[in-house]
Amino acid sequence: MTEEKLQFQAEVSRLLDIVAHSLYSEKEIFLRELISNASDACDRLRYAALTEPHLIADDPDLKVVVSIDRKAGTVTVADNGIGMNREDLVENLGTIARSGTARFLSEMPAEKSKQVSLIGQFGVGFYSAFMVAERVEVFSRKAGDERGWHWESEGQGSFTVGEAEVAARGTRVVLHLRKGDKEFLEPDRLRRIIKTYSDHIALPVVLAEGEKSETVNTASALWARAKAEITEEQYREFYRHVAHAADEPWLTLHWRAEGKLEYRCLLFVPKAKPFDLFTPERKPRLKLYVKRVFITEDCEELLPPCLRFVKGVVDSEDLPLNISREMLQNNPVLGKIRAGIVKRVMSELAKKAESQPESYLEFWDAFGAVLKEGIYEDAEQRDALLKLARFRSTAGEGWVSLADYVGRMKPGQEAIYTLSGDEADSLRKSPHLEAFRAKGVEVLLLTDPVDEFWVPAIGSHEGKPFRSVTRGAADLSKIEGGAEAKPAADGASDPGIDRLVALLKLALKDAVKDVRRSGRLTDSPVVLVADEHDLDIHLERLLRQHRQLEHAAPRILEINPGHPLIRGMAAAVKANGDSEAVTETAWLLLDQARILDGEVPAWPLAASSRPLPRAGEVR
Ligand code: ADP
Ligand code: MG
Repeated sequence: MTEEKLQFQAEVSRLLDIVAHSLYSEKEIFLRELISNASDACDRLRYAALTEPHLIADDPDLKVVVSIDRKAGTVTVADNGIGMNREDLVENLGTIARSGTARFLSEMPAEKSKQVSLIGQFGVGFYSAFMVAERVEVFSRKAGDERGWHWESEGQGSFTVGEAEVAARGTRVVLHLRKGDKEFLEPDRLRRIIKTYSDHIALPVVLAEGEKSETVNTASALWARAKAEITEEQYREFYRHVAHAADEPWLTLHWRAEGKLEYRCLLFVPKAKPFDLFTPERKPRLKLYVKRVFITEDCEELLPPCLRFVKGVVDSEDLPLNISREMLQNNPVLGKIRAGIVKRVMSELAKKAESQPESYLEFWDAFGAVLKEGIYEDAEQRDALLKLARFRSTAGEGWVSLADYVGRMKPGQEAIYTLSGDEADSLRKSPHLEAFRAKGVEVLLLTDPVDEFWVPAIGSHEGKPFRSVTRGAADLSKIEGGAEAKPAADGASDPGIDRLVALLKLALKDAVKDVRRSGRLTDSPVVLVADEHDLDIHLERLLRQHRQLEHAAPRILEINPGHPLIRGMAAAVKANGDSEAVTETAWLLLDQARILDGEVPAWPLAASSRPLPRAGEVR
């Protein structure tokens, strides 16, 4: 029979590289991954058989068999599930479907892939077989097909696939163990691994050697068992199975709803942020079962997008068993279950925020940006979400809530002040904050792109408008306490400043929208601000990065009348009316302001050697 040789997708080779270098980490998880896949395959067959019963009729007892062949040095994981045809084998065992993981792998520098710790960060799935096997063979026949297929690889760059005699429906994965990994031929060892990692699997997992065979696991749906009978370890391994994840659950919610509707939920909030959290579809994915029968892997109807990080299983007693995936859309039963789930998850998050604030902040750090999407698109949850939200602020290194902020507002302070940017630490150095710092007024530092949407969408919180410190004139005079922003007072009486402002306007022309004296600076000579009704500077930059906006709108250049540099210029102007010198310095000031703002200079030449533009020259 002819076998065709094919190359792995580049990202798979990366993954295999990681697998090869993780020789001493928890190798035994290969068995968990293969049993997890076998169980998924049986679930899929059972679902397909709801509409096409003939697919399952000849062999309806679904199970997973792990068998040992000492002579051959192989461990085989076999299932009588849905099976794979040639295309499935090439697609599923030659590429990485998860877009986030694939992108992560392709962007990772080569040296990093040698780090053992990486393997714990994402599910390596099927490819973990190569941790213990020098060669892997897969024999598979898809339910309803006559033809069988053989896939084989040594886990290095390529695999082969060809037609083969396969006796029965389903998939058989044969691991030719490496010399150093023969311990996995010991039944005791395998029994313990199955008990540890796969007890939650709802089908029998059978261990077989020669004539002997025994069912090793409990073989009942974990979510249908009583909470008291389930160990933390079993919850964790079940989480890894349903979420295809490698981390730990941060929160486990297991409950049964009774009354008008009856359903069971076993839901998890992961500890680690998955790589595909911000893919454009933003699809929630829960696993849906009806009376213990698997219906779909990624039911979107059970969660709003802002809770898409929640993983797990929902099992309904009310839906018909033969429900098709199309019938799930706008299904009223699912709508009600969803409302129940949202309520439960939100209240559990609120409880955690209250009772375990430290741990809650870890959660918020990972998923806060997702929850914040709900503030602007989910009016019903808005208030609850605003209570859950935490922010970086100028008050310290830690996180603050809006309630913290409002509670600390100064007498006379009417607005909630914000500053947006990529990173809290660099924002803390922004000249926009100088006067606020001098006054002791706290500013929230917004570092998630989504902040640019929900803040303008809600406009205010508890009657206090949000105000970006980069926009409009900063008027802090009404706020009591702290030191007055001194420079404004110093320069106020100096007519040289007015003349300087006029000359700067003349020199910079269209490069700025206006020039004015600043009420927000204490230390820096200049700063660029957005006009009251213009886009926030950070949002504009984001839009330009995403090519949604072509040109930056001109900014207002504010000058600090108390700064020695500005005072010197004003004095020179007053003494000899030297407008020529001002023109030359004007562009330097503008560049200074742009650099402070993290922008490139308007004249991107080496600052020391560039020729200064003359009055009348256009950029
Ligand atoms: P994941 O299980 O997270 O999707 P894996 O790497 O474990 O990723 O498996 C990749 C894909 O290969 C699965 O999604 C499935 O489509 C297919 N697959 C793996 N094992 C089997 C099996 N025993 N039967 C049918 N399909 C399988
Ligand atoms: Mg898998």
